[in-house]
Amino acid sequence: MAWAAHRRGWSIALIDRVDLESSSHVAAGLVTPITGTRSAATWRWDSFYAAACHHYTRVERDTHSSFWHPQPALRLFHSEEERSRAQERWQRTDPADHSPWSPKIRLCHSEELAGLHAPHGGCWMEPAARLHTGSYLAKTRAYFQSRDEFFVADIDIDSQLAVPTNPSTEPLQLRLPSGPISVDAVVFCQGFEAKCNSWFSALPLHPARGDILTLAAENKEAVSGASSPFRSGSTLPELCRTHVVHSEVWMVPADRQNVLVGATYDRHHLHGRVDEDGPARTNREILLERVQRMLPAVNVQQWPVARHQAAVRPASYDRHPLIGRHPTVHNAYVLNGLGSKGTLMAPLLAEQLCDALLYDRPIDSMLEWSRRVLP
Ligand SMILES: Cc1cc2nc3c(=O)[nH]c(=O)nc-3n(C[C@H](O)[C@H](O)[C@H](O)COP(=O)(O)OP(=O)(O)OC[C@H]3O[C@@H](n4cnc5c(N)ncnc54)[C@H](O)[C@@H]3O)c2cc1C
Repeated sequence: MAWAAHRRGWSIALIDRVDLESSSHVAAGLVTPITGTRSAATWRWDSFYAAACHHYTRVERDTHSSFWHPQPALRLFHSEEERSRAQERWQRTDPADHSPWSPKIRLCHSEELAGLHAPHGGCWMEPAARLHTGSYLAKTRAYFQSRDEFFVADIDIDSQLAVPTNPSTEPLQLRLPSGPISVDAVVFCQGFEAKCNSWFSALPLHPARGDILTLAAENKEAVSGASSPFRSGSTLPELCRTHVVHSEVWMVPADRQNVLVGATYDRHHLHGRVDEDGPARTNREILLERVQRMLPAVNVQQWPVARHQAAVRPASYDRHPLIGRHPTVHNAYVLNGLGSKGTLMAPLLAEQLCDALLYDRPIDSMLEWSRRVLP
């Protein structure tokens, strides 16, 4: 949202308490065109992906960095039915479809997937990509900090944001620790914490905690059995070292030593704490069991867990984003409900919200936060 506003030439105040347990800090940043065992296309894939590619490559240029990596991703099938469905749905190209971003798959057989449990084979999906979210957020912060437009602050909305007498025409007053500022519009991008925002208390969020592990997968003791299908001297299948692999869990190469593994979906424990008394232990075991099934020739228990992170995804009941304007304070907006797809969806949604703000354009009814969403 900050970038979209900045590119329109607006002065902004990007305010964040910089919480390392926020969903964006923990996210793996995966962008995938086909989801679920039904091999469905990701909702509005072409337009979201085109905007995401454009946005992240432009921010890379503006910040002289590299964090957006388009690369095909591998998906393993769990049944013959799933394989046939994917084949039927995706292998035929529609002659009327001229979009360069339309999802495509290339089927592969189990023999090509050494070291992975894939009796039904798999497929390469493209286009797909990964955003290094930590690096993207750090570069974004630094960019706006250098323009004096970034403020580290924990805002108590009720006491620090004052509603003017005539909210449609007068600016809003915000008290920051560094002093008061007057703003023409405010956009709340608070993720799960919007639950505590009295201005948007009716936001229909249906959040879910997710846990991610970083595994030190270079432990050579972990190979069980004499003949190994792995690269000599290593334990991890080469494909997992170079590409994102989706199965019961996804596995992402982090660096030459580590892989990221995730994620759980837990609607009961809505916090990001990782202590042994809470859900962390169970969620870690769930992830390790799934990795073990994915890599049967490796003893995953011998891979040290280098890091365990968790956060709460700001999902909605119908899995679509929630954006739009406050019903009475017309210069207050919300961008939320990104669920598991913030990396993909945020760039286009931010553009649409800027258009609504500037030209008073109506919000697409499938995105409007006040649409009727049944729990
Ligand atoms: C384990 C896990 C894995 C994921 N993997 C992926 C993935 O691979 N691909 C993908 O696209 N998505 C993924 N996601 C989902 C993704 O993280 C979210 O869709 C996205 O990050 C949501 O972004 P957000 O800005 O809406 O919320 P957040 O990231 O939660 O950001 C909200 C920010 O607002 C700040 N804030 C809130 N209230 C206040 C206040 N009062 N004062 C100051 N600051 C405040 C918070 O501190 C936080 O920094 C994953 C999520 C999890 C948990």
